[in-house]
Amino acid sequence: MTAAAPVALRLAEVRASIARACRDAGRPADAATLVAVSKTFDAGEIRPALEAGQRRFGENRVQEAKAKWPELKADYPDVELHLIGPLQSNKVREALALFDVIHTLDRPSLAKELAKEIPKSDRPAPRLLVQINTGEEPQKAGVSPLEADAFLEACRAEYGLAVEGLMCIPPAGEPAAPHFALLATIAKRNGLSTLSMGMSGDYETAVALGATHVRVGSAIFGAR
Ligand SMILES: *Cc1c(COP(=O)(O)O)cnc(C)c1O
Repeated sequence: MTAAAPVALRLAEVRASIARACRDAGRPADAATLVAVSKTFDAGEIRPALEAGQRRFGENRVQEAKAKWPELKADYPDVELHLIGPLQSNKVREALALFDVIHTLDRPSLAKELAKEIPKSDRPAPRLLVQINTGEEPQKAGVSPLEADAFLEACRAEYGLAVEGLMCIPPAGEPAAPHFALLATIAKRNGLSTLSMGMSGDYETAVALGATHVRVGSAIFGAR
């Protein structure tokens, strides 16, 4: 077995469990998209996943992504990169140069900066998700559930941003299901179709509750 095999194997297992969770929930087998979270892993460790056909990847830091993805994208131009970590306003331009989907729109100042920089970018506008702090944890990024509707409306009306969906990271050590259900409720009442929820430990639960994107890292690439 080559060094590459474990990643390809785990990737196949995760894909199979996602499809199974979709079917168990009465959803089409491809209803939930896998975003392979490659943060902290270097280009050499990511390549086996690319060779196995994986094309959607998540990174949580702009600088780290900038250091490793240009060379990988040169070989795999159809890669779709998802920013899943906090975005500082002064990194927006760099983020737009690299990412296709931003999961972490979480404040008016960032919405304003995105609205300013997207038209200047020579790449297609990124797909945007608003991060909701479903557990209302003070240390965690994301819009409070109580402020979600108003923030989404401001994104549309004030900043002209087409938000596609919502993302959440449930509090550690709590059952994730109520948080996923809350995210789905907020999305539904705002007419949003995309739900980014579920990580290595709970993606099957997320799929059962309607996730359209699961963000899975360690179950594919190993412990960080
Ligand atoms: C790291 C990370 C993940 C992946 O976590 P795993 O438990 O390794 O699957 C998913 N989402 C976000 C926002 C992350 O930062």
